Amino acid sequence: MSLPPIQYYSTNKSSPVVSFREATIRGQAPDGGLYFPDRIPLLSGDFKNNIKSYSKADIAYHVIHPYIGAGIPDDVLHKICEETIAFDFPLKQINDNIYSLELFHGPTLAFKDVGARFMSRCLGYFSKEQGRRVTVLVATSGDTGSAVANGFLGVDGIDVVILYPSGKVSKVQEQQLTTLGQNITALEVSGTFDDCQALVKRTFADTDLTERMFLTSANSINVARWLPQQFYYFYAIQQWEENKPPVICVPSGNYGNICAGLLAYLSGLPASHFVLASNVNDVFTDYLGTGHFHSKTAVPTISNAMDVGNPSNFVRILELFQHDHARISDLISSYTVSDAVTSDTIADVYRKYHYLLDPHGAVAYKALESYLNEHTVDGGFILETAHPVKFADVVERIIGKEIEMPESIRGILSLQKQSKLMVPEYDLFKEYLIGRS
Ligand SMILES: *Cc1c(COP(=O)(O)O)cnc(C)c1O
Repeated sequence: MSLPPIQYYSTNKSSPVVSFREATIRGQAPDGGLYFPDRIPLLSGDFKNNIKSYSKADIAYHVIHPYIGAGIPDDVLHKICEETIAFDFPLKQINDNIYSLELFHGPTLAFKDVGARFMSRCLGYFSKEQGRRVTVLVATSGDTGSAVANGFLGVDGIDVVILYPSGKVSKVQEQQLTTLGQNITALEVSGTFDDCQALVKRTFADTDLTERMFLTSANSINVARWLPQQFYYFYAIQQWEENKPPVICVPSGNYGNICAGLLAYLSGLPASHFVLASNVNDVFTDYLGTGHFHSKTAVPTISNAMDVGNPSNFVRILELFQHDHARISDLISSYTVSDAVTSDTIADVYRKYHYLLDPHGAVAYKALESYLNEHTVDGGFILETAHPVKFADVVERIIGKEIEMPESIRGILSLQKQSKLMVPEYDLFKEYLIGRS
């Protein structure tokens, strides 16, 4: 007695329902909506009770399998899971009631590695199945590009072309984008991030090109990036020793990460509450207070991966709870943390507990601390989404000393940058793409 495979509908409700494969290849639904599973699978009691005895790869496989169905053979899917989570996810205790789930032990030192590695391997499988090479186009302002490029590195059947704005990414980011080689090409565009994005958008709208080449984007709203982000919530539960389920606090920008946690929760992940932590680009507190959503124009902060004024996955949170504002307000609290308080938090936590937070983790720490002070609950954990060295200039200024570079970054800094200069003109870009195929 098995349930029918999960299919994906568009949150705008006017595109056809598709399989996991189709949703992954398309990224966004044709009506501009986000793909969403038509049912949320429930985890078995056996799995939940025995989670401590499962391997990380088995947990990943168990959680993701219902979402994929027959789209990828079981043995291939298990291999994809193994490769996706091939690094550590330690839950470290900071003080009596706050823990940190460190998601920065992957190749680009940020949690986006997990989604990027999973999606790249799924696309690799689909390209092989079709017998056509896939070209993945990514416009990046920095971090997403490096996670995606790294995720695709060496994956058979896939070429990646990254467009980044010249002079507008950090030195470490540029090295991460331009030194990979193999199937990854970096285009250094003499323009802004918006110019890069405009080139990519025009490419997808150009049917002459899309008929010639198998093109896809590695957009952050892709289901194959979103769904695997559930994995590490279960790794935290495996390591959670307290009696009561944890309060889970997620530093949020586009809400993909917290939305994966909420999805896991609806499947049976033990959690007592969620805290959505934002910098001043907070649009969630207002939604909880009024029931209405208003986007904002983003302003720059020191936790810049969360400088988002119109979070793309907000609609997925609504969808998860059938737009029930009362249910959402019951389960999720929201806190705003300013840059000044973020800086003080990094300094205080380092001084008191000898734990070094990055600015995103610090926003989460402060939000969780505030929540725990206001409620009689036991404790919880934050998602520490990036290694502090990724924001070395900010963090070093706050603690007044140098941070040690992890080995993986030191190696990259000395490599030769390989990029191709490109002016932001569509005809030239198109000619370049055709020349490659
Ligand atoms: C992308 C990112 C975030 C925000 O995650 P969302 O899924 O967009 O909410 C937080 N911290 C870091 C370091 C990031 O790179």
